[in-house]
Amino acid sequence: MPPSAISPISPPTPTGHDGEQDVDLTSMAIEHKMAKPAAPTPESQAKALPDLDASKLEYELTKQPRPVPEEAAAWASPETICTDHMILATWSAKTGWSSPRLQPYGPPSLMPTASVLHYATECFEGLKAYRGHDGALRLFRPACNAARMVTSAVRISLPAFSPAALAALLTALLATDGPRWLPRSRPGPYLYVRPAMIATTPQLGVKAPSDALLFITACFLPRLDDPRGGMKLHTSPEDMVRAWAGGFGYAKVGANYGPSLLATQEAKARGYTQVLWLYGPDGLCTEAGASNFFVVWRSRDDPARVELVTAPLDDLLILDGVNRRSVVQLARERLAAEGVDVVERRYTIGEVLEADREGRLLEAFAAGTAVRALSDTLSSPIFVFSFPFLVDWC
Ligand SMILES: *Cc1c(COP(=O)(O)O)cnc(C)c1O
Repeated sequence: MPPSAISPISPPTPTGHDGEQDVDLTSMAIEHKMAKPAAPTPESQAKALPDLDASKLEYELTKQPRPVPEEAAAWASPETICTDHMILATWSAKTGWSSPRLQPYGPPSLMPTASVLHYATECFEGLKAYRGHDGALRLFRPACNAARMVTSAVRISLPAFSPAALAALLTALLATDGPRWLPRSRPGPYLYVRPAMIATTPQLGVKAPSDALLFITACFLPRLDDPRGGMKLHTSPEDMVRAWAGGFGYAKVGANYGPSLLATQEAKARGYTQVLWLYGPDGLCTEAGASNFFVVWRSRDDPARVELVTAPLDDLLILDGVNRRSVVQLARERLAAEGVDVVERRYTIGEVLEADREGRLLEAFAAGTAVRALSDTLSSPIFVFSFPFLVDWC
């Protein structure tokens, strides 16, 4: 998804001093990185660098499997507890993708000059694997996460790769560690699966990296959909913007998160659960913490209709959440007949407050993998989604 026009809120287009420069440098660069070569010729095939290939996965299994903790004990641990194995694959501009390797969980080796440590050349994904009550092990829509990771990677000059290969590697890690870490005898819990990619080039020059490491871990991550009874959101402070027009809020890159921690910490200290990130002088509602935000209100024009409203994707300010997408798809498919219209558009905090004053506000909730969805920002009843019917199997 290369950045497209964001005209109404974008700054005036700069022109070169001769007025003739092509100004779309970022989107052009993204197009080049994503470009598929034309029909392969024998010469281009001989030159083509290897893509990420899950069928080449090599296995080095641990000789010391660790004890699997109870979920509650794992969540209480100050350190994230990962499963026995991880998958690594390296990339270099000269040789392309290496064969991926499943090996014992442990620290990777990195030079102090590695690009990621200085220039935030990192992106990641997060999805959950569930042991169903029917005994099956499932990942929730992994193809969506894999495709999004390619979008995030190219935004920060990391290499593209086959999303299908990443999805297959996620399955391979789960197939190895799932049986012990999500045992059939204990249905219900989940593991959080975290693919990430970093630029490892040991080069302090500020330039696109020529080496990268992709790694996949699986761990225990506490449920964030407590407290039951609702989430209290603090609107973002005027001195802090999470994402902006022409920025990279649509990419799951580490650079989006570190700078947001201060405001979140302050909101928590004041008794709020998360920050509701607003944008621009009108206070456009964008996201709640690191999850997408929805409000449900009665239509102003036709009180018989209910609108499920969420920020649009084409501003490139918000993340294209897999749970957001699932809520939108499910509501369009199943709630239209009940008078619920799904509306993806810009809306302001003023509109939300007005709907509340007029008694039209029905619900508000956040949706993301970590925050499975819930909450009343105001006084409305809690609204919990779960998606047992929308999972992909592995
Ligand atoms: C990860 C994330 C989300 C949620 O995306 P899901 O795919 O639904 O987990 C929403 N917003 C931000 C900023 C995120 O980082």
